Amino acid sequence: MKGNLIIISSPSGGGKGTLIKEILERVPSLGYSVSLTTRAPRFGEENGRHYHFVTKEEFQKEIDDGGFLEYAEVHGNLYGTSRAQTERITAEGRDVILEIDVQGAEAVMDKIPNAVSIFILPPSFETLRARLVARATESNDDLDIRLKNSHYEVSRYARFKYVIVNDELSVAASRLSSVIVAERQLLDRQVDSIRSILDSFERSDA
Ligand code: ADP
Ligand code: 5GP
Repeated sequence: MKGNLIIISSPSGGGKGTLIKEILERVPSLGYSVSLTTRAPRFGEENGRHYHFVTKEEFQKEIDDGGFLEYAEVHGNLYGTSRAQTERITAEGRDVILEIDVQGAEAVMDKIPNAVSIFILPPSFETLRARLVARATESNDDLDIRLKNSHYEVSRYARFKYVIVNDELSVAASRLSSVIVAERQLLDRQVDSIRSILDSFERSDA
């Protein structure tokens, strides 16, 4: 049985990265789609683990080769999801997490209607701003762009199947892992394993 595509979006600073790190430790059989980006690495970011950092030319070649499941320009940089990588993970029966912006999320939802879409909402604009300022990874100009863009991003929440408010970190992580585990229990996702269980009943002589 193929794994699920799990789309996780939020405005910058909404807590996607933090929550995903938590659930990768808690939930078995989960993979993470490492995106390609033209953005410069932040301090501590590793090529191949957080992103594949590429030039604009390399990114364009991947577009021309049809290598992206989706791609978008976000806050002035290009980001894209590798089609081959997500297919490899789901073919292994593992769910794959796509940590992508709302444009990319909507593109994937249109292409793959049974993808599981989850929007992470910060508890308020003020909390979002405070968390982004405390993260201290952006210049003032980049911070302003991200905060401005957050208004449009939160307005897209209604396209998503689930909304998780990221107030208390451990509570939000539990909500997120519950959604992922619950989605695995859908009847349609278990047809093969249910069939083999029922076969054992049919084979029994009791
Ligand atoms: P994103 O990946 O969506 O841009 P991050 O995961 O980097 O967001 O979170 C932004 C900042 O907010 C980080 O410094 C992170 O440690 C902090 N943060 C995330 N979730 C919470 C939370 N529930 N409570 C307090 N701080 C949080
Ligand atoms: P950051 O620069 O903070 O790592 O990411 C900026 C935004 O780009 C975030 O909303 C992040 O989820 C999004 N992003 C990261 N990878 C991808 C991707 O492959 N596709 C799209 N559409 N957005 C992405």
